[in-house]
Amino acid sequence: MSDERATRDLLVDLLVQFHGRGWVSGTGGGICGPADDGGLLLAPTGVHKELIKPDEFFTVDPSDGHVVRTPERDDLRPSECNAIFCLTHRSRGAWSVVHSHGLSTVLAADLAVDAGADHIAIRDLEMLKGIPGVTNTDVHLVPVIRNTPRERELVDQLETVFADPRFTPAHAVLVRDHGAYIWGDDVMDAKRHTEVYHFLFEATVARRDRHPEARR
Ligand SMILES: [Zn+2]
Repeated sequence: MSDERATRDLLVDLLVQFHGRGWVSGTGGGICGPADDGGLLLAPTGVHKELIKPDEFFTVDPSDGHVVRTPERDDLRPSECNAIFCLTHRSRGAWSVVHSHGLSTVLAADLAVDAGADHIAIRDLEMLKGIPGVTNTDVHLVPVIRNTPRERELVDQLETVFADPRFTPAHAVLVRDHGAYIWGDDVMDAKRHTEVYHFLFEATVARRDRHPEARR
């Protein structure tokens, strides 16, 4: 089996898993991974992510996001995440990015809104070690950006985040009232970071609920 064939199968498998956890439900969310020709395999938009088949991915050129290969099904359109995934690849070297609509991502971003901050701070959790270069004694900052009417309009804010040295260790960006983008060097790295960050978001939100005085 070619690398790309295996990657397509893995992306489909992950979308089923992530749908089961509520991270890509209601046709929301998305994923990309490396194609054999140096492109990015991109899921289609507006379809049930858990039902996507391995031959239904687009291939885009990550230098500018233009589509270089289309799936045989002619009623599909490339994901709205295209510009963001390509920017994340160019800025962070990520060959795989997950876009989550998980509830914990929205609630975690609310913590930044409550605090009037452009980030959330995650601390005192063993699972922090699942993020490259981060230890369980670090205070890990995850940037939070404003939502926009169209997903591709998030690009300007993402460029600012990627240029901010406070956020160099982060492998995720939260989008208020919307979700998160989480990435890795390859698909399995992105899978790990997606699972780790969802735990970190859930734990941080739950702790804040138990200690509401910490909001002040
Ligand atoms: Zn979205």
